[in-house]
Amino acid sequence: MSQPEVVTRFAPSPTGFLHIGGGRTALFNWLYARGRGGRFLLRIEDTDRARSTPEATEAILKGLTWLGLDWDGEPVSQASRHARHAEVAREMLDKGAAYKCFSTQDEIEAFREAARAEGRSTLFQSPWRDADPSTYPDAPYVIRVKAPREGETVIEDTVQGRVTIRNDQLDDMIVLRSDGTPVYMLAVVVDDHDMGVTHVIRGDDHLNNAARQKLVYDAMGWAEPVWAHIPLIHGEDGKKLSKRHGALGVEEYQAMGYPAAAMRNYLARLGWSHGDDEVFSDAQMLDWFDITGIKKAPARLDFKKLDHISGQH
Ligand code: GLU
Repeated sequence: MSQPEVVTRFAPSPTGFLHIGGGRTALFNWLYARGRGGRFLLRIEDTDRARSTPEATEAILKGLTWLGLDWDGEPVSQASRHARHAEVAREMLDKGAAYKCFSTQDEIEAFREAARAEGRSTLFQSPWRDADPSTYPDAPYVIRVKAPREGETVIEDTVQGRVTIRNDQLDDMIVLRSDGTPVYMLAVVVDDHDMGVTHVIRGDDHLNNAARQKLVYDAMGWAEPVWAHIPLIHGEDGKKLSKRHGALGVEEYQAMGYPAAAMRNYLARLGWSHGDDEVFSDAQMLDWFDITGIKKAPARLDFKKLDHISGQH
């Protein structure tokens, strides 16, 4: 039997320039797909209208283009798909995997206060979860997914290994707000599913989201993608990357005159290793890259190495 086609994606939120961490995430996705004859897609996650700007989208596309990472088809705007996201929320409702919740903010607060006073979990448990529809009021409601109350949710992550979350720590997440707009967590899953994404390779700051996103996959009876949550990049001092570590934006490296090929080589080395071959060609990189070789420890910036690699390109 032939292997299914590999489909990866890079899904930046357009709130600023292309960060070096984003550049590496995009590169890993590009390498994994292109090295296997698969497709690499781009999705602009502009759901947060207040923080998303067209300038940021443009800066991200420019950064990717300079890096030499080409994507298949047109970039997908997440916000343009909100009608589809809402449709899926209603499908979840029809399947009985989600429910209408009419609880008001005041009621939710009162629940939490009582739970705190009694030393119980403050995760909201809606009284509407198993309510009879004939008792529904004529009032605004949100749609919540029915999270399992017992047992565990397991994410098998290629980089992080098996990650287990107790289900009593997952609440019945809202998927559709009372104004009919989807939450981000629903939009990501629907988009990944509809775009046929087979491998989700992204920063490990999204690892906790995977458990909540799995609720949506399970509710819809969709197969989960292969997960690979990659560790963040740290500065040379081992601390979380910040301005004082120097260039953070891919365009800053471009401005400093580093060749794009050297940058690809260098970024590929951040968190992934292949033997001792310090400088390699794109062809070798495409041939050798695999998500199973991504290290679990945070990668460290190393400007000396970048200079060395640049000297060879
Ligand atoms: N839009 C998210 C970010 O920029 C990425 C979400 C994802 O890859 O699933 O951090």
